[in-house]
Amino acid sequence: MEISVAGRLAQREKADCLVLPFWQKDKKANAAFSGRELFPLFADLLQSGDFKAQEAETFLLYNSRNREKRIFLLGLGEKREDPEVLRRSFAAFVKAAREKGYKSANLLLTSWDRASLVAACEGVLLANYAFDRLKQDVLKEKPTTLLERLSFIGAKRADLAALKREQSIIQGVNLARDLANQNADLMTPQELCVEAERLQNQFPSIKTTVLGKKEIEKLKMGLLLAVNQGSSRDPALIVMEYLGDPRSKEKTALVGKGITFDTGGLNLKSTGNIETMKLDMSGAATVLGTFYAAAAICLKANLIAVIPATENAIGPKSYKPGDVYRSYQQKTVEIANTDAEGRLILADALSYARDVMKPTRLIDLATLTGSIVIALGEEMTGLFSNHEELAQALIRAGEKTGEKVWRMPLVSDYKEELKSSIADLKNCGSKKGGSITAALFLQEFVGKMPWAHLDIAGTAHKEPKHYHTTHATGVGVRLLIALLDQ
Ligand SMILES: [Zn+2]
Repeated sequence: MEISVAGRLAQREKADCLVLPFWQKDKKANAAFSGRELFPLFADLLQSGDFKAQEAETFLLYNSRNREKRIFLLGLGEKREDPEVLRRSFAAFVKAAREKGYKSANLLLTSWDRASLVAACEGVLLANYAFDRLKQDVLKEKPTTLLERLSFIGAKRADLAALKREQSIIQGVNLARDLANQNADLMTPQELCVEAERLQNQFPSIKTTVLGKKEIEKLKMGLLLAVNQGSSRDPALIVMEYLGDPRSKEKTALVGKGITFDTGGLNLKSTGNIETMKLDMSGAATVLGTFYAAAAICLKANLIAVIPATENAIGPKSYKPGDVYRSYQQKTVEIANTDAEGRLILADALSYARDVMKPTRLIDLATLTGSIVIALGEEMTGLFSNHEELAQALIRAGEKTGEKVWRMPLVSDYKEELKSSIADLKNCGSKKGGSITAALFLQEFVGKMPWAHLDIAGTAHKEPKHYHTTHATGVGVRLLIALLDQ
């Protein structure tokens, strides 16, 4: 996508369509731009009341004398300070434009502040995503139409840098979406390693190290190895570094769950619960997308990535319920359920990140529990943290980006559920408070280090909605960049 700005209407280039935004006031549409010379184009329509400027409402007009022959009237709803409304409304325009096959647009946003411009841009770019590589290869369908040129009329030269920065961040989101949407048989642990190495080749600021099965065995990561037992593919531990602020001692470790397919293991998942399990590496995808975005915008922060990657497959060597395995940290774990595998591989990765990489804080992202989906649905990520400041900073970043997080209790009363009679702890308890006991399990492996756990099981993928077009949402990339940018 090529993004440009033009100060005035007269300076704009030709495009397939012109977008005119409107606020709603007293149930009537009010122009959210200045540009009186355009008013005759839509005065009659506004008079008729057929266009009310409700949030995400679009109305298409044609005028052969205008520089763009099609004019989208775009509703933004009642005026309020909420960038999410702008993202969703501009995404509605993209959906309508893509259906018509338009490739370029001029957006008239005169007298908009920079934050609103960026939000509009985010809505357009996030919605301008397609995952169609499997369609083209397999079905030979026509490639999906995407917008290719976007010009912000009324924006200043100085705004262009902010818009392009946002574009780089959204390329990181799209990388995360691509990785998670890909077939599980293609996006294997080894392929995740290739992607991490590709980032190192693309950005000199990223250093990637891949540990294979032998090295994982040498490290005695008994939980990661246990989960891997049933798979024909080796596990991997991906370690990455990005030092964007060498003078600072602060270093954030991002740990992403990389289960490239989750069958549930011997506690096999049932129909209705297994179909989306290629997306169980969304945490890993988000960490890779965040590294892309950080390097692309030269983010001033120091980052570590630790990604434990394996399938949770089923086979003659599968790890078994009732058996006890020893973690990297030496604690032993009784397997109460083989489908609670994410916390096992994260446990080894979190303690490795803490002990070997020596960060100042830890953040893990994982499609961890069905319980969080029951508790919070698809709109909010579950946040668990042992550190007030980090939790508040994540909540603020969530509000800013629309990737909202909701803080859940991390209360030791629930720990009873994890007691085992034959090991130091069990990997899960009953269904009650399942997302909380999962977080408490992880806490056993982070010690006193400031830590936040983001359970993205509800938010990492969804049916097309607002600016999300195809399953994987890439949730967390924009959230983490906003957190690190505070
Ligand atoms: Zn599972």
